Amino acid sequence: MFGFLRARRRRKILAEPFPAEWQAVLHREVGLYGQLDSGERSALRDDLRVFIAEKGWEGVKDFDLTEPMKVIVAANACVLTLAMDGDPLRHVRTIIIQPDVYVPPQPRVQDGIAHTGGSATGTAYVHGPIVLSWRHILHNSRDPHDGRNVVLHEFAHQLDMTGGVVDGTPPLPRRDLYPAWRRIMTAEYEQLVQAAGHGMRTVIDHYGATNPAEFFAVSTECFFERPVLMREHHPELYELLRAYYRQDTARRAERA
Ligand SMILES: [Zn+2]
Repeated sequence: MFGFLRARRRRKILAEPFPAEWQAVLHREVGLYGQLDSGERSALRDDLRVFIAEKGWEGVKDFDLTEPMKVIVAANACVLTLAMDGDPLRHVRTIIIQPDVYVPPQPRVQDGIAHTGGSATGTAYVHGPIVLSWRHILHNSRDPHDGRNVVLHEFAHQLDMTGGVVDGTPPLPRRDLYPAWRRIMTAEYEQLVQAAGHGMRTVIDHYGATNPAEFFAVSTECFFERPVLMREHHPELYELLRAYYRQDTARRAERA
């Protein structure tokens, strides 16, 4: 779409009052929404309306994909990019919702997958759609403290995939961040691989030890859902993700 047409359509969407039913859904079902201050909530409400309008949405087979479901997915996805410049998820065109775990049809092309024994809770495809399990979306959305959020996870993969490569390094907002990113991400990833290998308890889920791409996605879940613990146990990683996402999630969680 031409930029001016998109801008005009967005203005039209945002000129409408925010639906009261959607507001109730945010309060009831989106745990992270409850941690935001009033300015952030307002920005998120705008972002999610544009997100819902501009993405293609599909429920598989006879799964009835409703508006409140879209609100929950969009709200969690837009929390990620709330303070980022531009439209970092513009390349994600289609979101497909499965009722529960599913077996991905093309396992060879997927690059980010949250496994549960051969079936998946979510999948992100390079230049392709995002697939998510509704049961896990809702369960994860309601609890903002358990470190698990399939929407944050798969959309973090999509941020990583922006340049077509999935390696745990998304395009960074500042050139000078790259050396720190390489150093800290490598050290933290290797530390998690060691800890997971020894069966040690860690703040960051062991699934992050799968590869650097999963480490970025799992660290992102931790940054938004267990930020105070992450800042305490992984201060450099916390500051790195804070510089990337431009949100001080630990301070926000403490305030909430
Ligand atoms: Zn993944």
